Amino acid sequence: MSSIDTDVLVIGAGAAGLCAAISAAPRRVLVVSAEDPRAASSTALAQGGIAAPLGVGDSVRSQWADTLAAGCHTSDRRAALRIIRAAAEAVRFLSGVGVRFDHGESGWRVHLEAGHSHPRVLHAEGDRTGSAILAALLAHAAGCGHIELLSGVRVAMLLAGEEGDIAGALGFDRAGGPVRISARETVLATGGLGGLFPSTTNGRHANGDGLAMALSRGARVAGLEFVQFHPTALKTSEDPAPLLTEALRGAGAFLLDARGDRLMAGVHPLGDLAPRDVVARAVWERGLRGEGVWLDATPVFRSERAGEFPLALHTCRSHGLDPAREPVPITAAAHYHMGGIVVDPLGRTDLPGLWACGEVACTGMHGANRLASNSLLEAVVCGRIAGASLAHSSPVLRRPGAQGEGAADLSADRHGGAALRAIMGRCMGPLREGGELQSGLRELAELRERLAPEARTARQRLDLSMAMVRSALSRRESRGAHWRSDFPHRDPQADAR
Ligand SMILES: Cc1cc2nc3c(=O)[nH]c(=O)nc-3n(C[C@H](O)[C@H](O)[C@H](O)COP(=O)(O)OP(=O)(O)OC[C@H]3O[C@@H](n4cnc5c(N)ncnc54)[C@H](O)[C@@H]3O)c2cc1C
Repeated sequence: MSSIDTDVLVIGAGAAGLCAAISAAPRRVLVVSAEDPRAASSTALAQGGIAAPLGVGDSVRSQWADTLAAGCHTSDRRAALRIIRAAAEAVRFLSGVGVRFDHGESGWRVHLEAGHSHPRVLHAEGDRTGSAILAALLAHAAGCGHIELLSGVRVAMLLAGEEGDIAGALGFDRAGGPVRISARETVLATGGLGGLFPSTTNGRHANGDGLAMALSRGARVAGLEFVQFHPTALKTSEDPAPLLTEALRGAGAFLLDARGDRLMAGVHPLGDLAPRDVVARAVWERGLRGEGVWLDATPVFRSERAGEFPLALHTCRSHGLDPAREPVPITAAAHYHMGGIVVDPLGRTDLPGLWACGEVACTGMHGANRLASNSLLEAVVCGRIAGASLAHSSPVLRRPGAQGEGAADLSADRHGGAALRAIMGRCMGPLREGGELQSGLRELAELRERLAPEARTARQRLDLSMAMVRSALSRRESRGAHWRSDFPHRDPQADAR
């Protein structure tokens, strides 16, 4: 076993983890990631952009109001305000580390996206914003003397300290060799959990492992039932499912059903620009009936706006489709988790020594539904806050207690979890129902009983999945991304106070 002793351990090298690491100077930081961060992080895949109230006539209050409306009265209002107030500074920070946001003649070029009442989404390199942000952060981190980046270590468990605290983590390298990392402070920045579902836009790293590890150590979690599905992933056998940005519908694309009729006609007053959860449910419902849905983006790709969507064009073409000539088949896919490990305004969890930021954390900002382009914002702002608070806190010496560390964990591969993913797809998709949730829970418990004792990662994922199903069962209402056909209305009693 190789052993490493570090001051601060950051698990995850997406926007949140890298911002935390950069801001934690002068503390010594080891950043580990399961794979090359350019190949496996949601940050690298983000197409739409980052939301900030920088346009003419826009304001923090306006973005705040839009965020709370999208969150369906479930957001933590103060957390949302705090994060949006920091948006302008976050954009300046990103520009400072080399992100070249698109500019127009009169300053920042801001785009309108569904749910935003002002144009406020900044792009870099067109629809390649996420990879532009990630490349700049990685280059900047590489030049920071206090940061060491170690990729190819998949963390499987948090090490419990002698005082009931978290004192580092145990991972496995690519050859399956155990790597034990003792740390004074541990930051989880492992991203989302789309990989628990059969169809997802999330990269192969995003299987909820950080959240599952924290849950298994007893960390407080919240909002587990709130999973956002993206309505327009290209329908292929590929995993992850390639995403076609919603900005295409903002630019004039529309959805068609199997008869060639407009899918969203009569479903919502905003039609194709209805909130993401409404569109995802409409697409999902057709899928349950065995019917296809298509995105007709020909008006966009035949117009002068085609140049704004190079990635979408490339995605379609690489699957033998020409979106300028014909509608392309799409499906709804698990995309973003609003819930996560509960953190305080500084990014601390309720376990001493454990911090969390980015998609794995739950600041409460997104409530029951995330407003488009608010997640990169949250990852950058909260990563920086967590890092800065670590920089200002005095290091505590922590000692990992004795604990069974086991052999290399072969259950970490997403493809080994096909049964789990199928169950989650059946009961935890955009349309839920009590009976389905109950039988899903039973099936997950049966799967768990059959696991080999050393399959730690699979067990943690099952425990997380069961916790999600229980949360969905106990929320006997429909709200945002959580829709129950047996409780189709919102329960005002459950509004955030
Ligand atoms: C296709 C797509 C498009 C999106 N578009 C947008 C957008 O336009 N705007 C927006 O605001 N948001 C968008 N999002 C959401 C947004 O990209 C993410 O919420 C955000 O990037 C999360 O950042 P993060 O740092 O928390 O996690 P990530 O960027 O996912 O990084 C997680 C890191 O943790 C590592 N990791 C995971 N598990 C382990 C483990 N067990 N051991 C070690 N390392 C581990 C990964 O390798 C990776 O380095 C999109 C998401 C997807 C999937």
